[in-house]
Amino acid sequence: MTSTVITHIGELVTNDPDRATTDDLLGIVADAAVVLDGTSVAWVGPAHEAPEADTYVDAGGRAVVPGFVDSHSHLVFAGDRAPEFAARMAGTPYAAGGIRTTVAATRAATDEELTARVAALVAEMRRQGTTTVEIKSGYGLTVHDEARSLAIARQFTEETTYLGAHVVPEGSDPDEYVDLVTGPMLEACAPHARWVDVFCERGAFDEDQAREVLAAGAARGLRGRLHANQLGPGPGVQLAAELGLVAVDHCTYLDDADVTALADSGTVATLLPGVEFSTRQPYPDARRLLDAGVSVAIASDCNPGSSYTSSMPLCIALAVREMRMTPAEATYAATAGGAAALDRDDVGRLTLGSRADLVVLEAPSHVHLAYRPGVPLVAGTWVSGLPQAS
Ligand SMILES: [Zn+2]
Repeated sequence: MTSTVITHIGELVTNDPDRATTDDLLGIVADAAVVLDGTSVAWVGPAHEAPEADTYVDAGGRAVVPGFVDSHSHLVFAGDRAPEFAARMAGTPYAAGGIRTTVAATRAATDEELTARVAALVAEMRRQGTTTVEIKSGYGLTVHDEARSLAIARQFTEETTYLGAHVVPEGSDPDEYVDLVTGPMLEACAPHARWVDVFCERGAFDEDQAREVLAAGAARGLRGRLHANQLGPGPGVQLAAELGLVAVDHCTYLDDADVTALADSGTVATLLPGVEFSTRQPYPDARRLLDAGVSVAIASDCNPGSSYTSSMPLCIALAVREMRMTPAEATYAATAGGAAALDRDDVGRLTLGSRADLVVLEAPSHVHLAYRPGVPLVAGTWVSGLPQAS
């Protein structure tokens, strides 16, 4: 193993709870250095105190932040829905049924085509600073197509999620389909998945069906998460809190009881501002959640229908501008927040022993992520201690 010291870091965001204060959520170290040893962080502190290492990298005063943790994406698909997007921007309302278009294209694609698409999207994410990504199935909706989607996703990440309960496929009886999702499809998918997820929404799956799918997944060792309260009010957020799920995603339409349930349960509310941007829906109120003490994550929801962006910096900028988060809160939510949403404490932070995943910004401060929207600010990405080709 070789060690590397990255020094002359103008601003180092650590997300270290021991360094954070009421005025500094991010545990910032100014004029900092970080030492990477093998795949882990071995030292963090002021540059003038940094120990020797095998290799020396000068950050030239740039800011360094933990690699982004994108805890919600749907990268295994084929086809393109640009015409649907254009129609929506011309006034056609968004409906969950658009998923079926992608299902037809995904089923028709070869394994090689699907794998190449995931590889391209993961590379695109890397170039924008994402170092951990969760990938869901959900565009196959047959035993074979869901299982192969997850097997492909597993080539790129350990954080794979079985989302057979994305939508009831065209022509299927809803009850029979839930039987399939909780039976043979689960059996085929569980070996390739860490999580099980349900789209709990009007037009998709109701509360009872969501309970059934989550319980079946749990019995096969999969941990639960939910898509909930995206298109309107619903039972999903309170169900997630009741079951003590790690995260519930979207959270756009919440009442006071939903917010209280999230604060009390500790379930992470994952907000997906790319969706509201791409569907012209109202944004979730992150300020209300944060003020109530809810843990918040930001993720891309990268998918071909409702949010075809892979950019965490864009999501940070939207969260600040449209969801009333501060730049520090949004940066935290896109790193440590995403890690919490995946129940991980080895990523989303730069502390002793954490995975050496980091982003060098072409900027003096994390604030630029929101201050300079749309600008390619990622000067370099390191994953498990290795610089990535850009
Ligand atoms: Zn999603």
